[in-house]
Amino acid sequence: MEVEPPQSLKKPLVVVEKTMMGPGPSNYPQRVIDALGKQVMGHLHKETCEIMDDIKEGIQYIFQTKNEITMCVSASGHGGMDATMCNLLEENDVALFGATGHWGHRAADMAKRYGADVRILESELGKALSVDEIKSAIELHKPVIFFLAHCDSSTGVVQSYLGDIGLICRKHNVIFIVDTVASLGGIDFLMDEWKIDVAYTGSQKCLGAPPGITPISLNDRAMFKITSRKSPVKVYYWDFILIATYWKCFPSEQRIYHHTISVTLLYGLREALAIMAEEGLQSSIRRHTSCSFKLQQGVEKMGLEMFVKLPFHRASTVNAIKVPEGVDWTKVSDYAMNKYKLEISGGLGPTKGKVWRIGLLGLNASSEKVDLVLKILKESIENTSDFIFVDKSKM
Ligand SMILES: *Cc1c(COP(=O)(O)O)cnc(C)c1O
Repeated sequence: MEVEPPQSLKKPLVVVEKTMMGPGPSNYPQRVIDALGKQVMGHLHKETCEIMDDIKEGIQYIFQTKNEITMCVSASGHGGMDATMCNLLEENDVALFGATGHWGHRAADMAKRYGADVRILESELGKALSVDEIKSAIELHKPVIFFLAHCDSSTGVVQSYLGDIGLICRKHNVIFIVDTVASLGGIDFLMDEWKIDVAYTGSQKCLGAPPGITPISLNDRAMFKITSRKSPVKVYYWDFILIATYWKCFPSEQRIYHHTISVTLLYGLREALAIMAEEGLQSSIRRHTSCSFKLQQGVEKMGLEMFVKLPFHRASTVNAIKVPEGVDWTKVSDYAMNKYKLEISGGLGPTKGKVWRIGLLGLNASSEKVDLVLKILKESIENTSDFIFVDKSKM
């Protein structure tokens, strides 16, 4: 053998404890860490299937849905997005994407690869779309699907009035898809009541579960679109009917092997959902809202500005703060990371170089963490620039 065992692997594994206050992943609660350390079981063992059933009920709770087709895709949030496009779209289907930042474009890119005829409805940067704009675009394009990110984590914009948009989609026979990766558990969301046909979320944001497993739910309208496809779903691994069979979403069908799910990730997700169920969704949402409010006040007190101008367009989960002129955002983030092991992220896509993004997600949506991040942000700016702090709330 010509390739030697690597020297690097002779050294011990290094994992540094960090305070994860970017747009995700967020820190794990201890109960999730303990669950992740447990021995593997088989992906079809009866105990594993029971855990999957518990998870299904937990996902129905967090989405507020009674959909039978509620399960996980074995991939990160991107996988939920890609699988949704892959199953719901066929060649030349008109697909309309609301974009309030980076994520509408990312989903559109995926849809294009499956041959969809993609149209984009872009909001003014830092603003949500209005119901009227959406209604007009749906009437103009007559799409098969309409996609929205509930919270666009690149801009920190939350898209409200999903219930009104759901009604418009029903009226025009459009499948309504909502990405709740950066919002679920932190911002109100009622899948059934708001007539949302497909929703997926991220495990590693408000839920505080490990990345790599993505809860998803589809109603009968979405499933009808899939079962009446003219062509088979293009990617075997993403095929929702096969995945739903493995998750025993069809009561009369036997569970069958589709892939070896990471049982370890299931342990972590189950505990994260159990914690959410114990706290209660409403209380979790209230906690995220009040922490974000406190953060916004602190930011303004420091003389900084939120990137999203209108308070009711601001997501509570991912908070974007404008980088002031003369300040190098990377130096500030690096200072916080090097000295305090605290993650404050920069922008993404249209906000690259323009903002810091502070995630108040799951465990990190606490009053103490808000105080901590504000203190460190201030110190990091002070030590890396000549910025003069002026309390704008007093002006
Ligand atoms: C983080 C995020 C994703 C992607 O999730 P990954 O787990 O990184 O693949 C998708 N949509 C939104 C709105 C996100 O914030």
